Amino acid sequence: MIARVSLEIALRKEFDYLIPPELAGQIEVGSRVQVPFGTQKFGERKIFGTVTALAEESAQIKLKPILKVIGAQSLVTPKVLKLARWIGEYYCCAPETALKSVLPEAIRKEKDGWKKQLFVRALNLSGDFPKLPKRQQDVWNIVEERREILLSELLELAETTAATVRKLEDRGLVEITSEISERDPYARETILPTQNIVLNPAQSVALKKITGAMDQPLSTFNSQPSTFLLHGVTGSGKTEIYLQALAHALEQGKGAIVLVPEISLTPQTVERFKARFSSGKLQTLVAVLHSHLSAGERHDEWHKIRQGRARIVIGARSAIFAPVEPLGLIIVDEEHETSYKQEEAPRYHARDVAIMRGQMENAVVVLGSATPSLESFYNCHRGKFSLLELPERVDHQKMPHVRVVDMRQAATKEKGTPLFSPQLKEAITQRLERGEQTILFLNRRGYSTSLQCPTCGYVCECPDCSISLTYHRPEQKLACHICGHVEKVPLVCPNEKCKNPAIRFSGTGTQRVEETLAKLFPKARIQRMDADTMKRKDDYRKVLGDFRAGKIDILVGTQMIAKGLHFPNVTLVGIIYADLALHQPDFRAGERTFQLLTQVAGRAGRGDVEGEVFVQAFAPFHPAIQYARRHDFNGFYEQEIEFRQQLKYPPVSRVALLTLKGRNEEKVKFSAEHLKRELEKTLKEFKDLILAGPAPAPLLRAETFYRYQIMLRTRAMSALSRELARIIQSLALPEDVTLAVDIDPVNLG
Ligand code: ADP
Ligand code: ZN
Repeated sequence: MIARVSLEIALRKEFDYLIPPELAGQIEVGSRVQVPFGTQKFGERKIFGTVTALAEESAQIKLKPILKVIGAQSLVTPKVLKLARWIGEYYCCAPETALKSVLPEAIRKEKDGWKKQLFVRALNLSGDFPKLPKRQQDVWNIVEERREILLSELLELAETTAATVRKLEDRGLVEITSEISERDPYARETILPTQNIVLNPAQSVALKKITGAMDQPLSTFNSQPSTFLLHGVTGSGKTEIYLQALAHALEQGKGAIVLVPEISLTPQTVERFKARFSSGKLQTLVAVLHSHLSAGERHDEWHKIRQGRARIVIGARSAIFAPVEPLGLIIVDEEHETSYKQEEAPRYHARDVAIMRGQMENAVVVLGSATPSLESFYNCHRGKFSLLELPERVDHQKMPHVRVVDMRQAATKEKGTPLFSPQLKEAITQRLERGEQTILFLNRRGYSTSLQCPTCGYVCECPDCSISLTYHRPEQKLACHICGHVEKVPLVCPNEKCKNPAIRFSGTGTQRVEETLAKLFPKARIQRMDADTMKRKDDYRKVLGDFRAGKIDILVGTQMIAKGLHFPNVTLVGIIYADLALHQPDFRAGERTFQLLTQVAGRAGRGDVEGEVFVQAFAPFHPAIQYARRHDFNGFYEQEIEFRQQLKYPPVSRVALLTLKGRNEEKVKFSAEHLKRELEKTLKEFKDLILAGPAPAPLLRAETFYRYQIMLRTRAMSALSRELARIIQSLALPEDVTLAVDIDPVNLG
């Protein structure tokens, strides 16, 4: 027998290998194998790969044998293999690259296998019990009582060495065996089981539609009414619907995948799912996959799924590849989140992969959000997805009252623009007096965005990136937020002709907000929460715990505090600089601003007191800000989709972004122009194609590389991807210029 193997090197080619007799019967489609690659003359290496097909014979001659198989079960199921193939084609990357991404590193490399531990077990004795020396007797007493005990634990309890235990083994009293001990990342949590909640009418309608689609017989399964967009404001009970839909999948004997953005994959989120399904009638193991697990924990969680013991998987982006079989349901929570898009090859979007997987495996897909992406809402309008709406909060709480403050009016001639408008200052004062809590949001860390000389206008920039350095006051340093470059703060303006010592700080970051607050409200207890203060795994938990316990009056933070947090005593939210995201050179700037404002505003007033939100803005009449103020998603959608239609931007069309990068700017520019001409020549049959560029990327230089971009827009993206793959393969680029293809990019930087 012959096995066709896709190797872990992006050659866009598969190779045939002999299955040696000793491995016969152990190799199937999806098996991970190790094979020899290369020639004796130039050096032979051992390489990992995945079997993609079996055959009787091969057209290739002199086949080498497979060296070994990894794992007892094939690791890539045929269904996941098919999904990987689609990813390679659609996202225009080498099939090997796509295949590599479907298995966690810990599984692919076989480095972290099951954890084996030594156990000591009491044996049944036939004859008379021997008289033992005291030390051995002490050990035996423990083993007899426990029947089975970890060797390490026994040694600790009996305060002895393994030699004593071996003596008992020689006497036939105990046996020492090596057994698998499963790592459970949540072993230390105590989780109380929960029951279904009685749904309100809007929730019941939504759940019925979802379970109705799940009950369709296979023969009539229609993937179009089987993808749902659950649009519900924060606190409208979406998660409860997910839980009950998951229960339905289990009752059908099927499994499910729940995707949540990495940032919301907190212990609280995981707990809500475990609490419903890890005990009681539908008891099933809930497996968790995310980047904070150790390699060993990931190995064990993954195998629990592959063995069919865990039926529900909850995880971030790559959990969409979990080998759940049969798959009944996929849930993508916060479907609008940009973190679902992988920013390196394969540049897949987990939401879109989820929809494709649902179609391939006849599984129902539920996308949930309080602020759906324009893409998904547009698909509802076109009849591709079904829209389910939960317009009200479960507890009938009113949406918070949002006030937009025009910061142009807050500015004074003498002092310029203050960080806090008088209105926001007054509101914070009230909260402090009433013992209520405040959240202040600014999506920019550091002290100030740039260091600029007031005399000559000199700005301190990163030597490797085209971006100004951010001033971090506590550490007295300037840092690049792209590449991490750090330098000292200059004492005088670095411009030789200027040398002005008054070089001053402009712009605002969270550090400056914190410092100004401390001056304005010296008695308030203030805590900052951003990537600079949350360095260790436990920091996040601790700060949120303190905030919940009322030990903090004002929490200042970046997007880290925008999501999913629920604090009943927070009655005020202030957004320091709402137009920040509007200035991004990206056609989605308005959409991002609307989403962010809505999410942040949703943090206010979830208790008995109605919440209040102050939005400080320099463009207070921008539609993204005004629609967010009125909690009007539909209004925002209507005007935004019109703009997208006029300019032929997604979701009306699709985008492919080609980025060329290299250290020599002229070469990069030249290569981009050459590529543009090739594209113009070969893509004539795409009637709706819009080709823009080459143009310098919004961030022209990053980590010493210059970057130029070409943007293509068409409705026929699958066909375009195929053409692009062909063009790229025959494209001759200078050695030091590389090309990256991003299909449906979410980041145009
Ligand atoms: P979302 O996911 O939309 O933010 P959740 O599902 O987390 O909303 O619901 C918010 C809170 O309301 C949770 O504490 C949840 O247990 C509770 N809840 C959900 N549905 C109901 C219901 N029908 N009746 C009472 N409480 C509910
Ligand atoms: Zn830099």
